[in-house]
Amino acid sequence: MEIGVRDLRMLFRFYEALGFDRLAVDVPEGLPGGGGGCDKEEGLKSLRAEIGDCRRCRLSEGRTNLVFGEGAPDARLMFVGEAPGEQEDLQGRPFVGRAGELLTRLIEKMGFSREGVYIANTVKCRPPDNRNPLDDEIEACMPFLVRQIEIIGPSVIMTLGSVATRALLGDVGSISKVRGKTFRYRGIPVVPTFHPSYLLRNPKSKWLTWSDAQAVLRLLES
Ligand code: SF4
Repeated sequence: MEIGVRDLRMLFRFYEALGFDRLAVDVPEGLPGGGGGCDKEEGLKSLRAEIGDCRRCRLSEGRTNLVFGEGAPDARLMFVGEAPGEQEDLQGRPFVGRAGELLTRLIEKMGFSREGVYIANTVKCRPPDNRNPLDDEIEACMPFLVRQIEIIGPSVIMTLGSVATRALLGDVGSISKVRGKTFRYRGIPVVPTFHPSYLLRNPKSKWLTWSDAQAVLRLLES
């Protein structure tokens, strides 16, 4: 039986209204959402194993822990930051310092939990003195982020700050000009916004990030 995409959307809304948040459907392999959460979990585990004790760039020299990323392997929403900071390096988890608390509040305000989204960085090891990662370091580490995106297959990516935005989209312009707009990375909508560290220094810009988050929510609903 053939069913229109519009009817399908109405059907999903109907089930949602009944309180279902998951439905058992057969999604062909290769489509976003296809492959199943277990396969994605396995995919991420095997990618982490492949990265191992990576020494592909100089950032390995000063790190305490490699920060792979965390969250739901089948997340519809993925956040991509810049690089681990001090706390992230010590704990081996992304966005756990003060900037992380701010990101967590944003995620929760958007109606998600940290565990329900996926959070990763452009480079997986902390740059010395929290400097920006250099081009060759980004180039060395990007294949890992690309594979994470391929495995998770999110519906929307929110890039946090100029480093992540440029890494995924190329030179599209300054973050203050491109924030809140929708770009595409391999067909996936990408909405750039400010890095939470910037918002800690410029709290008046928080409302701009909230408006960018609403653009993300509209994309997730459409
Ligand atoms: S930043 Fe990436 S490429 Fe460089 S050592 Fe860490 S994991 Fe490897």
